[in-house]
Amino acid sequence: MADDNCIFCLISDGRIPSTVLEVENDDFVIFQDIKPASQHHYLAVTKKHYASLKDLNKSHDSLVQLMENALKDLLVSKGVSVDDALFGFHLPPFITVKHLHMHAISPRTQMTFLSKMIFRPSVWFKTVDEARIYLSQKE
Ligand SMILES: [Zn+2]
Ligand SMILES: [Zn+2]
Repeated sequence: MADDNCIFCLISDGRIPSTVLEVENDDFVIFQDIKPASQHHYLAVTKKHYASLKDLNKSHDSLVQLMENALKDLLVSKGVSVDDALFGFHLPPFITVKHLHMHAISPRTQMTFLSKMIFRPSVWFKTVDEARIYLSQKE
């Protein structure tokens, strides 16, 4: 359900005209991060409101895969390297917007020091591969 107090619910519902939706389908939208961590930084945001990866389970594996594939396709369509890109999720409490979003950042090697800290695979940031392992262990 869309939550009017959640900015990502409003964006994925197409209610923020200033946000350009690069990709839109029944399950998620993709748009540019307003605070890019490198030259290219996109977010895939689910249309359904999930607070974080913790709200997903095994059954969402295909959704996660579709989001990653769509982000990769978008980068490729923009002539951006997918090999030097980082895909992943933040975990609570290190989340700025509490609505599930997958980051795609490229080039990974050109991220600032601070961005590398914020997006370093760790207890607060899971790469997509780590996220899928995490989900496979949940009911
Ligand atoms: Zn939301
Ligand atoms: Zn995040």
